[in-house]
Amino acid sequence: MSNKVVGILGGGQLGRMLGASASLLNIPIIVLDVGDDSPAKQILNNPSSKNLSHIDGSFKDPSFILQLAKKVDILTVEIEHVDVNALRKVRETHPHVEIHPSPETIGIIQDKYRQKLHLKEHLGGSSAPLGPFRSVDATREDIERAVEELGLPLMLKRRTLAYDGRGNYVLRKSDPPAIADAIQFLCPIGAGKDELYAEKWVPFIKELAVMVVRGRDGKVTSYPAVETVHRDNICHLVWAPFRTTSVEQDPGIRANAERIAQEAIKSFTGAGVFGVELFLLPSGEILINEIAPRPHNSGHYTIEACESSQYDNHLRAILGLPLGSTKMKVGAAGMVNILGSDGSEPSQPNEISFSPDAIIDKLTHVALSTPGAMPHLYGKAQSRKGRKMGHVTVVGVSDAEVRERMAGLLQALAEFER
Ligand code: ATP
Ligand code: MG
Ligand code: MG
Repeated sequence: MSNKVVGILGGGQLGRMLGASASLLNIPIIVLDVGDDSPAKQILNNPSSKNLSHIDGSFKDPSFILQLAKKVDILTVEIEHVDVNALRKVRETHPHVEIHPSPETIGIIQDKYRQKLHLKEHLGGSSAPLGPFRSVDATREDIERAVEELGLPLMLKRRTLAYDGRGNYVLRKSDPPAIADAIQFLCPIGAGKDELYAEKWVPFIKELAVMVVRGRDGKVTSYPAVETVHRDNICHLVWAPFRTTSVEQDPGIRANAERIAQEAIKSFTGAGVFGVELFLLPSGEILINEIAPRPHNSGHYTIEACESSQYDNHLRAILGLPLGSTKMKVGAAGMVNILGSDGSEPSQPNEISFSPDAIIDKLTHVALSTPGAMPHLYGKAQSRKGRKMGHVTVVGVSDAEVRERMAGLLQALAEFER
């Protein structure tokens, strides 16, 4: 189909699912990540005789990125926290290697403050669909100024290397000890320059997400907007498509979310799929939270529920192949993430304890006996609290059927959390 070799920076679960899609079209993939056993490498056993062996090294290390570039025709990412300067260098030293999305796009998006400035500039300035934000130094004085300007609670965020809310701190009081705690949490090894920014608290009623596909010609199309439900800053559930309910009367919300997400992605360069996270306000207004320049957790459901998955379309977009339909082929879908846990020690003699893997086994077994449910396990060696170990997608003819099928899974989960 395409004899181009694709190199992926990062070999986690998103790389694994890209690899599964690539295998259907016999697209050769080479993964750069530390170790020989990352989730993506586990399912892609390439012949080393054809110079397709994976690379054991960090996607943040320029020398390994250059090593990967020498072996491939196209470079892409499954994580945005890569060394962008190394990608720029690849463009000079290996001009025949295409990089999607572009290093500029990855560079803007990996710095969440620059990302917000970019979106403000390209989506209408002060009328852009963004909450108020400003840069902030990690000092008491500047954080106090940010509180004066944006109010409390104040969302303080690290500009880079954020995921699963780990770079976020909600400042609820502006007294000196509270601010000192925030600085200590966000900058534990001391504050450098340009590390933080502040966002006004957004009183959203729901979070939505839209996966957008950007072709090499810059044209965009999107999957249906979905609802995402977070717990402890980590995506817990996805419901697809997003349904208007009595709370959100406006039937135009979904179309509006998809339009805003597409407009945002038009403003970047390079091909691929992008995840756009959004907030829905009580007024029906929609604001952008943040963008991921790659397949996204909220789009896992597209594997079972859409005519082509986000992973199929990411590969098609970067390779310049005809894009696949983003329509749902089932009435509705849901997804629940399987997160690692610490396990628990019995505090009472007759209380049941469980190992960290027990919850994964239990959910997988319930999924295997639930019609329309498909468990995905990522093969991560170690389970840690909050680590994404797998997910289950549930499809059905209607939202009601999906919620009913999902209920057994959520009940099994709740039994572990009691
Ligand atoms: P991800 O794993 O999606 O990359 P992240 O670490 O980059 O997450 P954010 O998406 O910025 O973190 O924030 C995590 C969650 O915190 C959001 O999904 C939302 O629930 C909440 N949140 C973020 N910004 C705000 C805000 N300004 N006001 C209120 N809640 C917010
Ligand atoms: Mg993020
Ligand atoms: Mg996020």
